[in-house]
Amino acid sequence: MRRYQSPFNGNRYLLNLNTGEIHDLDFETPQCNIDAISPESIYNCESYTTAEIWAYMRQCPNPNGCHYCNRSKDNG
Ligand SMILES: [Zn+2]
Repeated sequence: MRRYQSPFNGNRYLLNLNTGEIHDLDFETPQCNIDAISPESIYNCESYTTAEIWAYMRQCPNPNGCHYCNRSKDNG
C-alpha cells in the first residue's frame, strides 16, 4: 500500500536506511512491518534502481529486495 503522508511521498519503493532492505509497496505484506520503520530510516522513491543507488550512497549494510514483497531482488 502506497503512503502519501511524510516521510512517504506516494512512490512505490521504500528503502530502509537502517537495514538496506528495499520494499515494493505495491506488494507489501504484513511481514514487511512498514509501519514499524522509524521515519528517519525511510527513503521513498519511484524505482528500485534509485533506491539501490541511494542505499550505496548512504552506505547501507546490504542493499537488497525485501524477502516478502520484492523477492526477485532478495539476495539475503
Ligand atoms: Zn517488504
